[in-house]
Amino acid sequence: MSVASSQHLTTAHAVSVLGKDAGSVPLLDVNRQYQALRAELDKAISSVCESGRFVLGPECDELEKNVAAYCQAPHAVACASGSDALLLALMACDIGPGDEVLMPSFTFFATASAAWRLGAKPVFVDIDPATFNLNPELLEGLITPHTKAILPVHLFGQCADMPSVMAVAKRHGIFVVEDAAQAIGAEWEGRRAGSFGAVGCFSFYPTKNLGGFGDGGMMTATGSGLESRLRLLRAHGMQPRYCHHVVGINSRLDTLQAAVLNVKLRFLEDWIKRRQANAARYDELFAKARLTDFVSLPVADKRGRHVWNQYTIRVPDGRRDTLRAYLGERNIGTEIYYPIPLHLQQCFAPLGYEPGSLPETERAAEEVLALPIFPELTAEEQRTVVTAIAAFYGIERKL
Ligand SMILES: *Cc1c(COP(=O)(O)O)cnc(C)c1O
Repeated sequence: MSVASSQHLTTAHAVSVLGKDAGSVPLLDVNRQYQALRAELDKAISSVCESGRFVLGPECDELEKNVAAYCQAPHAVACASGSDALLLALMACDIGPGDEVLMPSFTFFATASAAWRLGAKPVFVDIDPATFNLNPELLEGLITPHTKAILPVHLFGQCADMPSVMAVAKRHGIFVVEDAAQAIGAEWEGRRAGSFGAVGCFSFYPTKNLGGFGDGGMMTATGSGLESRLRLLRAHGMQPRYCHHVVGINSRLDTLQAAVLNVKLRFLEDWIKRRQANAARYDELFAKARLTDFVSLPVADKRGRHVWNQYTIRVPDGRRDTLRAYLGERNIGTEIYYPIPLHLQQCFAPLGYEPGSLPETERAAEEVLALPIFPELTAEEQRTVVTAIAAFYGIERKL
């Protein structure tokens, strides 16, 4: 099963996924998960085909209940993608022209485009270099009378420091919308991602920890007022049929995706444990290879539960791209999340950010390299990855 070319997973990766050559390691192999659950998934899919209820069918209601329970949130509303979840969340909070939304620049594009598309202004916050997440100490200094929301991102599967974010928001009476696209199941002090802010936004894009067979998204909501607004907005603001009091969008979830995701959700905890085990194994292998003098390993904050959507190392001294090319020649899949911070994207030039304005974000963009971490990755494959990185640095060592 290959995944269409996209921002996260290129066709080249999908091909390398097939792992034809010995010693090659894909960044992600979605096929291994499909083969393991094939009978159950095929059954769930054909049952939707039989039912003929292809959009927002009963499996979608079931998925909403399952995800709400899993995320410790009182409500959940399904939609067509993580990007739409962010857009709908900001629409539900009445964000519009003249409003400012505080968010990291070191994130996927959809975080900022959601605010921009509503005519609001993304205001970028630099990151904590240890966790790559928004630095909450910088928030206070960026609040203006126009600030209407904070949009923290739980990057790579680790929660932002939510108690600090919530405290600032409470002090100023502004909304918090969580971009939890990479972090379903992540926790901070025992609370799950998506259960802190007014709305939590999730993605079921195939590279996420809970990935569908296409696009899909979910919004968790803390209040029933917001929940019904999200329901209204995802279906053209129509209530009852052909009556429109507000202008919404078309962002419904396909029943086929929900059926697949209901099956997969039962395995999510197991997959998270395997991702955590893989992260721990990388930590050991990097230490054993004495590579920690050359690259920095990702930091999991003790207050949280990291779900390792990505295992992102830092490669300093301008050597990241040469290391990546070296691994690519050996058919080892890696990715750079994200090479150009959002404040320096051409489309956001009107916001007036200059290079140097967010130093930690810009340094991260030059140094980060994501390694394969998916649940079905084998110990042997991890040894191959670390052995190759060691060889790049001239270290020959049996791992
Ligand atoms: C994947 C992702 C999104 C967008 O989700 P889609 O389902 O691909 O639209 C938004 N924010 C972050 C941080 C993501 O990783």
